[in-house]
Amino acid sequence: MTGVCDEVFIVTPGFSAPAHSFQLCGVTMERQVVQRAKEAFVSGRARVLEFRLQQLHALQRMLTEKETEICTALKQDINRSQYDTPLLELIGIENEIKLAIEKIAEWTAPRPVEKNLLTISDEVYIQPEPLGVVLIIGAWNYPWALTLLPLIGAIAAGNAAVVKPSELSECSSLLLRALLPRYLDKDLYPVVMGGASETQELLRLRFDHVFYTGGSTVGKLVMEAAARHLTPVTLELGGKSPCYIDKDCDIRVACRRITWGKFVNCGQTCIAPDYILCEPCVQSRVIECIRRTLLEFYGADPKCSADYGRIINQRHFSRIMNLMEGYTPVVGGQSDPSQCYIAPTVLKDVPPHSRLMQEEIFGPVLPIVTVSDMDDAINFINEREKPLALYIFSSNKKEVKRMIEETTSGGVTVNDVMMHYSLSSLPFGGVGQSGMGSYHGKHTFERLSHHRACLLRSLNMESVNLARYPPQDRRRARRAKMALRSPLIDMSKRTLIWAVVATIIGTGLFITLLVILLIAAGLNCTCWYWRGFYN
Ligand code: NAD
Repeated sequence: MTGVCDEVFIVTPGFSAPAHSFQLCGVTMERQVVQRAKEAFVSGRARVLEFRLQQLHALQRMLTEKETEICTALKQDINRSQYDTPLLELIGIENEIKLAIEKIAEWTAPRPVEKNLLTISDEVYIQPEPLGVVLIIGAWNYPWALTLLPLIGAIAAGNAAVVKPSELSECSSLLLRALLPRYLDKDLYPVVMGGASETQELLRLRFDHVFYTGGSTVGKLVMEAAARHLTPVTLELGGKSPCYIDKDCDIRVACRRITWGKFVNCGQTCIAPDYILCEPCVQSRVIECIRRTLLEFYGADPKCSADYGRIINQRHFSRIMNLMEGYTPVVGGQSDPSQCYIAPTVLKDVPPHSRLMQEEIFGPVLPIVTVSDMDDAINFINEREKPLALYIFSSNKKEVKRMIEETTSGGVTVNDVMMHYSLSSLPFGGVGQSGMGSYHGKHTFERLSHHRACLLRSLNMESVNLARYPPQDRRRARRAKMALRSPLIDMSKRTLIWAVVATIIGTGLFITLLVILLIAAGLNCTCWYWRGFYN
């Protein structure tokens, strides 16, 4: 870590120092970096497939070679266990790099689409192409995944990308700033350090896409700034993700899974279950099961556990402590401001309209709100902002389906928490106040590509077009209408192959049938002949 920090120490810890956006002949550092990224993009190298692959391989190498440094940085930032960082962030990033490397040729290839009669002889396809320069603004709670996952998609799609990690996860951001230029093209994928003012300086500039992860207040500022340039945005925001425990389920298993998801990373996970909804008759069993699980996971004093993290800073520590004011915890409740430590805490019978139930907790405090039944839980969820994630624990499949149908959320996991995040085949993102746009795996590539509509035709067969040219008469207009109304036909390679195979098989069957009939007819004739002969 020291080596890395030494190298970038012109940027002193405490990013409010204006070291990053210093003016050079009236031009800020941010402006210069973005200008260089634009020029590098215009050079065209980011579009070349081999180049994209080479950059992805280099990123993969960086993660393998620097795993220990990355884990150490996160230990310093939020006391995250060295075992958790690979599980929670690095393996997921590596998987997405592998997937992009494996699929890039397929993803970037032209995609033939269905045609109608008018375009039957044309080449018609969708061509994914790069957008240009993407701004990636990351949050501090998973500083590697939240910057590198969008970056993988940006590289795969052939874009340049300016990466702005969070100033709060200071050690991780410094390390990212030191490592990325060592492995990747410095001009195409620069890292800009800084907090609110540096980010706002960046947002004054024109990008081709802004990919933001963080709270919704800043999300609105990002969208406002992007709107000035008509720049599209992806907003990966947060919110309160509900967790419903049905009385018809194995509460012990449910609580083990919930306890892990809620208290991993010290509750600072955007898709952590924010609160529990359950019927009063199961509340005490839920509390007891969580208490037992916590003992098993972190021992009698979680403060001494190597597996239990810390709150990112004093501001967030005070914010969470304030939210707990006036409650008597049924589990945990201990804290130590000198270490930004808050014990895993459970609060029971929390009133639905309390402050604790108005804002995202983003810390190790788990309120339980009681509801009378599943309908009440559904109403509770629907009366609030659309959440980023919804968790349902129940053995009743019909009821689970009903709850999914009657609610909405960015994603949903049933009988577990957060697992929908781990599959790159599923789009990850919010809805309504929890965000817009989704990513992971191919979805990131799609998000950061322009899907260009391409129709290529020759100058032959002009007679086909006569029907649409003036002077029009009834016959021509009828012909033009018929052609326009013709159904879409799938002319993709796969369909054509199937059509050829089906024709060959069909013809084969027809010939076989014909031969059988002929033989049968022949036999019949022979029979008649011999019958006549004997008669
Ligand atoms: P944060 O404080 O790190 O801010 C996010 C980014 O915005 C940082 O890069 C920061 O420098 C920048 N920023 C902060 N203030 C700014 C301002 N005034 N103007 C311009 N830029 C500014 O992160 P946070 O907001 O505390 O993150 C926590 C929130 O993020 C939670 O709500 C959480 O749910 C959400 N989150 C969402 C996801 C997701 O994938 N949906 C992932 C992680 C976190």
